[in-house]
Amino acid sequence: MAGESKNLAALLRKKGDLEVVEVEKPSPGENEVLLAIDSVGICGSDVHYWTHGEIGDFIVKAPMILGHESSGVVAALGKGVSTLKVGDRVAIEPGVPCRQCDYCKGGRYNLCLDMVFCATPPVHGSLANYYCHAADFCYKLPDHVSFEEGALLEPLSVGVHACRRAGVTLGSKVLVCGAGPIGLVNLLTAKAMGAAKVIITDIDQGRLDVAKQIGADFTVLADSKDGREMAKKIESTLGCMPDISIECSGAPSSIQTGIYATRSGGVLVLVGLGPSDVTLPIVNAAVREVDIRGIFRYANCYPTALAMIASGKVDVKPLVTHRFTLAKSLDAFETARTGAGGAIKVMIKVANK
Ligand code: NAD
Ligand code: ZN
Repeated sequence: MAGESKNLAALLRKKGDLEVVEVEKPSPGENEVLLAIDSVGICGSDVHYWTHGEIGDFIVKAPMILGHESSGVVAALGKGVSTLKVGDRVAIEPGVPCRQCDYCKGGRYNLCLDMVFCATPPVHGSLANYYCHAADFCYKLPDHVSFEEGALLEPLSVGVHACRRAGVTLGSKVLVCGAGPIGLVNLLTAKAMGAAKVIITDIDQGRLDVAKQIGADFTVLADSKDGREMAKKIESTLGCMPDISIECSGAPSSIQTGIYATRSGGVLVLVGLGPSDVTLPIVNAAVREVDIRGIFRYANCYPTALAMIASGKVDVKPLVTHRFTLAKSLDAFETARTGAGGAIKVMIKVANK
């Protein structure tokens, strides 16, 4: 693990060209630590950079190491680091903001314009044996929290941020649209935050079955693109209209469903990112005072996500369906891309041979 001599990394040279190659071992700068990476979850965005070479304005113009859902062991300390020591097991919050701007000072550092985020071009990610990161964005894992759970703090933090923005609280009735990894972490978080009932939709019955196993009260197959029709199904299954809807698919018809389904005065949070321009029944939302809020990643959520896992309030372990070694990264990406074998979260075990 910490004694690995070579530094192998999953390097995306350009769209469609991903290879595990040896790269230079980095050395930690001031206030940084060198990490021997243990586990890295594959996210939809990693797959998208591989298959499309870009997401929105972020374009892969130079070779980039992928991966941003990571955990590992501190292998060396840069100058000035006093909060961690060699051998500490940590989860890595992948985005490091400037810490100086109004957004950062106001606590909404996810909106920082100078954010440096792993595996978002041109910044290298952490799918490598060794990787350097700001020490204050590494969170020490208690002994009983596994490296995989540490890596899963990343998507779980998206759930924490979305449920906070949605105002989920004791007794909330929540609709989650989409039962991919992000929909599922929203389901888990909403339940942990006291939601009385969570209903979840997907077009894939297999994913709905997983949602049911991990605690969804109701599931609804999204077999219609008619938002009003889907909203009726949701209301009759749940027994009322949800107070809160959290859209986690990005599908236009599902966002439309989210508006129609939410009770008047409720909140719709948009987590899923699909086409940039979508036609929405906005007047319906306006006259019923349905607040529509976006979210972008998370801020101040890692400590909460970790506390939820460490206390046993949330169990993210069932999300991991497949594991691969670093050498087999291409197979891992192919499995994540196709969803073969009911894949939900594909984990790369970097420290394993
Ligand atoms: P995913 O593709 O694995 O999951 C999406 C799920 O939605 C799939 O299970 C799919 O079958 C389902 N779906 C498709 N059409 C649907 C419909 N009409 N109704 C209901 N369900 C439908 O992706 P994921 O990793 O779970 O991420 C979900 C979304 O969240 C993506 O769009 C991703 O880009 C976005 N995301 C946003 C943020 C953010 O900060 N806003 C962070 C992470 C992910
Ligand atoms: Zn900033």
